[in-house]
Amino acid sequence: MALEMLAIPCLRDNYAYLLHDPDTGHTACVDVPDVAPIHDALAKAGWHLTDILITHHHDDHIGGVARLREDTGATVWGAQADAHRLPPLDHALKEGDPVRIGSQTGTTIDVPGHTVGHIAFHFPSSRLVFSADSLMALGCGRLFEGSPGQMWDSLCKFMALPGDTLVCSGHDYSKGNAAFAQTVDPENPALAARVAQMEEDRAAGKPMAVASISLEMETNPFLRASKPYLKEAHRQTDASDTAMFAYLRGLKDQF
Ligand code: ZN
Ligand code: FE
Repeated sequence: MALEMLAIPCLRDNYAYLLHDPDTGHTACVDVPDVAPIHDALAKAGWHLTDILITHHHDDHIGGVARLREDTGATVWGAQADAHRLPPLDHALKEGDPVRIGSQTGTTIDVPGHTVGHIAFHFPSSRLVFSADSLMALGCGRLFEGSPGQMWDSLCKFMALPGDTLVCSGHDYSKGNAAFAQTVDPENPALAARVAQMEEDRAAGKPMAVASISLEMETNPFLRASKPYLKEAHRQTDASDTAMFAYLRGLKDQF
């Protein structure tokens, strides 16, 4: 059976995610911005935490890891490349390494850009990918450590996943991301439809940091950096895809 997924709002605009394998009872938490909301969600669902998956070293993603591990005895998985600046890891992961939650196996994807050691977790049979601050809903993470070329390559890895894969990202930046997307890609009808839908979803209390790969590819301006019409509209006709991505990321940094 597929993994059950719960999105848990934490801190100001972060999301942690619980993943539950109904066959074995194993339960993982992807990133730990804060401990209390995760304990609450576990208690409500009646789940016992067995695994903690870390996407990258920023405090708003690992701040609660040590405490949650102490409370639950969970096994910690994270990037080998960043082991020196992450809480102690039980499993140090490289590109392609398996991540096991009970009977379910995910794959580690290297997605540098926001940080150099950022990884994502893909669970193909559950159609889920956890992208944190690399690919985000209608946006992407700021380039704190990596180059535009690294982030573009990382985004291309997401675009190669099946379109019905749900992208679960690290923050709700939906308002700012929607405003920016509509500024740089104003004629995109799929984007207009998504922004209207987002208003409804926000009012209904749905998690704003989650959307499918295919919807992101139709509406997220950073995933559309290779589109000739978008390059033309910004007078970047001769720009490479990486250069166009860097141009859009630069606009967003100033937005
Ligand atoms: Zn971050
Ligand atoms: Fe973050």
